[in-house]
Amino acid sequence: MSIGWRFDNTYSKLPKSFLSNTSPTPVKSPEIKILNKKLVEELGLNFSNINNKNVSALFSGNSLPEGSKAIAQAYAGHQFGHFTMLGDGRAILIGEHISKNNERFDIQFKGSGKTPFSRNGDGRAALGPMLREYIVSEAMHALNIPTTRSLAVVKTGEEVVREDILQGAILTRVASSHLRVGTFQYITARQNEDELKTLVNYTINRHFPNIKTSKNQAVDLLKVIMEKQIDLVTNWMRVGFIHGVMNTDNMTISGETIDYGPCAFMDLYDPQTVFSSIDQLGRYAYFNQPSITKWNLARFAECLVPLIDKDKDKAIDIATETINTFEKKYEKRWLNMMRDKLGLFGDDVKDQVLILDLLTWMHQNKVDYTNTFCFLMNEKIRDIKIYQDENFLIWKKRWNERILLNNGTYEKCLNLMKSVNPLVIPRNHLVEEALLEANNNDLTLFNKLIKILEKPYQNQKNILDYQSPPPLGDKKYQTFCGT
Ligand code: AMP
Ligand code: MG
Repeated sequence: MSIGWRFDNTYSKLPKSFLSNTSPTPVKSPEIKILNKKLVEELGLNFSNINNKNVSALFSGNSLPEGSKAIAQAYAGHQFGHFTMLGDGRAILIGEHISKNNERFDIQFKGSGKTPFSRNGDGRAALGPMLREYIVSEAMHALNIPTTRSLAVVKTGEEVVREDILQGAILTRVASSHLRVGTFQYITARQNEDELKTLVNYTINRHFPNIKTSKNQAVDLLKVIMEKQIDLVTNWMRVGFIHGVMNTDNMTISGETIDYGPCAFMDLYDPQTVFSSIDQLGRYAYFNQPSITKWNLARFAECLVPLIDKDKDKAIDIATETINTFEKKYEKRWLNMMRDKLGLFGDDVKDQVLILDLLTWMHQNKVDYTNTFCFLMNEKIRDIKIYQDENFLIWKKRWNERILLNNGTYEKCLNLMKSVNPLVIPRNHLVEEALLEANNNDLTLFNKLIKILEKPYQNQKNILDYQSPPPLGDKKYQTFCGT
């Protein structure tokens, strides 16, 4: 019985400048560490008749499936505000697989060796960070947040040299595409309008066929991508996710979260939270994420200028006007998202103040963001002493009164809250514990964590063990890029 791959590699047929034909560099002794059975099923694949050795060879790139076409994609990016020509330096796209629902997915190896875009890098990745991407991306998916997925992690049997010597690994990433804002920036930097048109057409055909017939495709493309990105960042804010490296090369056109390098979840509510060791100015802090999204969209709009209007000034005016609708749209979306988190129906003029007062209280009292909503939903959590605070009780009284407006009932309120407030998130200290064990060849904690995170909105056995923040908060928790 065959595995079920159905490759159709449209990206590889784009002009030569978009990519480089590059194969994975074989690895010494690949060993499959985890295969995502649910995703395998969703993709219409079947590995049950393939032994571990062959599965390991497949997901390490040592043997490529029939119909695949290995390439590295070219892209550029603003990294912490500075423009650089980049490209897949340690990732190789093996093709687009058509799933059983006829959806198209990029299948990409991360850590599979050098490419012409590797610059000074070794093209490799380490086991810990690849397993970390697996945990967090799958958790994001379960939280109903658009994201790239993780299909498999293979240990390569080779060492990678970072500050320490680490075990090498390859992650298989699945994405609705790997088109990024940076892909557009790369093509724009080449100043070839035909190539830009090719990229816009490709993007519209692949992701937004409903704007194929629109009068001004470039403006409409900007608008739909803005909607997708507003939706994405609002979702991040909802669960306290901090991406950590929102460079334009890490912002997808599809609106999926990508690149789980230095990301982390906030425990104690603090809008300035930053975990990434290299983000010293807090450019990508929790509360800056919406304005950075807008900044990145403005870089995307700049790429589209030549196609928006022949008259450059007019084109810039249209692009600017479109980008300047961001704040109003985002604020509205954010407010509604927070209303949902508090189970509030309809609009009330005092909603914003009510919401901000709760956030300010959490901030001032160093209270856990996720658990506060659990407490409000009457879920059992361990540390509840803080919720006897007088200011909180006064706030809660106002909230209770608001719930009943616009035909709201406590029951309806609770149901709404339960649909958007996770009971568990990938807590940093638990992720680290699981990775530490996994690095020592024991996946027990890793598998338990994955299982709990599969159903973040449901009460599960032993859930309390996964809900508490670390004893002293995680102010000192640090994440790293380029791992
Ligand atoms: P990231 O910070 O993961 O978004 O990566 C930024 C750029 O650096 C991308 O073009 C990556 O492909 C490249 N890169 C990161 N790590 C490596 C590595 N070990 N070898 C080669 N290129 C890398
Ligand atoms: Mg990246």
